[in-house]
This record gives sequence, C-alpha cells and structure tokens, in this order.
Amino acid sequence: DRLTNTLLYLDNVSVSFDGFRALNGLSLVIEPGEMRAIIGPNGAGKTTMMDCITGKTRPDEGTILFEGATDLTRLDEAAIAELGIGRKFQRPTVFESHTVWDNLELALKAPRGPFAALFHRTDDAERARIDAILTTIRLADKRNELAANLSHGQKQWLEIGMLLAQSPKLLLVDEPAAGMTDAETAETAILLKEIAKTRSVVVVEHDMEFVRDLGVKVTVLHEGSVLAEGSLDHVSADPRVVEVYLGR
Ligand code: ADP
Repeated sequence: DRLTNTLLYLDNVSVSFDGFRALNGLSLVIEPGEMRAIIGPNGAGKTTMMDCITGKTRPDEGTILFEGATDLTRLDEAAIAELGIGRKFQRPTVFESHTVWDNLELALKAPRGPFAALFHRTDDAERARIDAILTTIRLADKRNELAANLSHGQKQWLEIGMLLAQSPKLLLVDEPAAGMTDAETAETAILLKEIAKTRSVVVVEHDMEFVRDLGVKVTVLHEGSVLAEGSLDHVSADPRVVEVYLGR
C-alpha cells in the first residue's frame, strides 16, 4: 500500500494553543532518502510541525506515522529519538569546554547511558566512525580544537556531527544557515546534500538562496497547512505563495 514507502506521513494534523490553530489539517509525506525544505512566513507552523514530529507537542488531531507503521503521536520524545529521529535546533548546543573530538565521542556514547559513556573505552570501529564524521562536517583539522574556539558555522556543523553519531534515519534541521557567513552557508548546503545520501533530512529554512542551493522539493506552509509544494521555481511562481510572502 502507499504507506509502506513513506518515511514520514503526516495526515490531517491539527494543534491549537489557547484556541489558535498553529497546525490546521497539515498533511505531508516524506519519502525514504528524501531531503525536503520547509518554508513559510513567520507563524506558519513550521516549528510546531517539528515539535509534533519529535513528540515535544502532542497534536489534538491527526496521524503521524514513521516508516509507515509507528504512530509518533502516541510516543514521548525519548522514544521518538530512539526510533532514529534526530533534531537540530537553531542555536548550536555543543560542549564549549571540550574538544571537537570529545564532543563527537560523547555523542556517540550517549545512547549507552552516562556511566557507559564515561567508562566504555572507545574502540577502533568507533574511532573510524568519528573520523568519517569529522570529514563530513569539515572539521577533520579541528579535531583537537576546543569547541569554544570554532566559528558559529563550525559549531553548527559540529552539532550536526553529534547528531550523525547517533545514526538517525531522519534528521530534522531548524534554520541551519542562520547566522552563517555566505561561504559557510554555501558549504552547509553541500554538506547536507552529502548527509542526505544516507538518510532523510527535513530542513526548515528562511534563506531562499540556501534553499535554492539545496535544490530539493519545497513545501510552503501557511496558517498551519500546506499552501504549495514542488520545486522552488514552481512554488515561487505560485501567486498564493507570492501573496503570503509579500502581503506581510
Ligand atoms: P513558524 O515556526 O512557522 O514561525 P510556529 O510553529 O512557531 O511558526 O508558530 C505558529 C503559531 O503558533 C504562532 O502564532 C505561534 O505564536 C503559536 N505557537 C507556537 N507554539 C506555541 C506555544 N507553545 N504556545 C502558544 N502559542 C504557540
């Protein structure tokens, strides 16, 4: 059936805060291996959508299925993370007083629990994984640098690396390009495309140049549901999309 080939399936999801419908019958399908960009004006419901997927907010109505089977609306945040859904918030949250390597090592061991994380010796396979992640996040030559000394963009990459250490099947990324230099922004688009070769990625983003660099299908949210979907060229030629962006 058509659900078996979906990684994430949102059907008619609604959630209200004090009578205000932040999500209003939102329906959306992400396929396995797909990268999707979510755009929309402030208040469109992008953050609330991410909160519902990750279990931070429970929808009032609707279904959210992971891999066509698991109903995420019945699970808490920890259980959803354990299924392989990782989320990167807008601001980087790395351990500033630890090195880049130690940040990744901690992230790799975190699922074993705090004691194992302290006492388990990192083995060769784990070192190889950390090395591979360092290359992916463009920090191979910064492995011994304190995270505090990284640029804002490099901290964002390190946090993406910390999520990769937990091998998520789906990575949710909130405005990765915010606060980055133009060069870092362009590099982040390339980096995310590489990451998306081995997992699905959903990116919420305001920077349209960055969305164009990603070159992926775009979903435009407005007033808590999908206004338009397709290539960036397709949706930006839609008069309704133009109106919600210019009408504010
Ligand atoms: P976006 O991320 O697209 O800017 P949000 O999902 O943050 O939109 O917000 C959608 C609407 O829901 C906004 O009007 C916001 O004020 C409201 N909202 C979001 N979260 C809460 C909350 N926890 N309590 C009350 N209102 C909220």
